[in-house]
Amino acid sequence: MLSDNDFLRFSRQILLPECGEAGQLKLRQSRVAIIGVGGLGCQVAQLLAAAGIGELWLFDDDRVELSNLPRQLLFTDADIGHNKAQVAAGLLSRRYGAAIHAFGKLDDSSIHVLGDIHWVVDCSDNFATRHRLAAHCYRHQKTLISGAIAAFEGLLFLQSANANGKGKGRSTVSEHPLSVSRAASRELAASGCYHCLFPQDTESATRCATQGVLGSAVAAIAALQAQMTQQLILGMPLPSGRMQRFDFRHFRWHEARVPADPHCAVCAGGGESDGC
Ligand SMILES: [Zn+2]
Repeated sequence: MLSDNDFLRFSRQILLPECGEAGQLKLRQSRVAIIGVGGLGCQVAQLLAAAGIGELWLFDDDRVELSNLPRQLLFTDADIGHNKAQVAAGLLSRRYGAAIHAFGKLDDSSIHVLGDIHWVVDCSDNFATRHRLAAHCYRHQKTLISGAIAAFEGLLFLQSANANGKGKGRSTVSEHPLSVSRAASRELAASGCYHCLFPQDTESATRCATQGVLGSAVAAIAALQAQMTQQLILGMPLPSGRMQRFDFRHFRWHEARVPADPHCAVCAGGGESDGC
């Protein structure tokens, strides 16, 4: 149950018919993993913690550097040299009272700790992590909210938890109580996965470390990732399997459906060779 303090704190969210008291309880009962606590991850973590998400798992083994501070707004000069996930978890736990846990790098040996986490927000900065994560989410029916930003181009891609219902004879609807509707699941299951959009050998050409970026553009994409996460938790279906690109230079959205690649190493047939 929500306390009187909860009703007051979250009153503007509860006012939304799509949220209400039941929705706020869903947010509290949710456990979300955020992979990467850089510019995107800092913003996503703060927005979700402030919104009342019950549990956040933050993954990053990087340490705070001076050049991070214009974008990674949870950190100050005093945090330079400290682990990003630990600093962010400590700050957000104190500020919002949520259960926030810090983990190191997400690699083949640690990805299994994701366990029964249903919502995964990809805020990482390299294709190796993105591919590993997307394949894991596909095979273990987790919803992946992927965001990326470099220079003046932001990318969003939603990979439904139910996307692999098409290839394995499973139901397209997860038994998870927070899953999306059946109608939405059928539509989402017809789309391609992250690997269909970016094949394994895609060159990692879009990194803010090499191309530069403005902190406000990072915050804009991160805010959309946090919004997508909350709407999905509230049971509001969103388009999945679509590449959504925002051109900040001309302030235009571009959207394209990602067709399923019949030769995709992840979603075509029963490709489970890498064991993740
Ligand atoms: Zn695929």
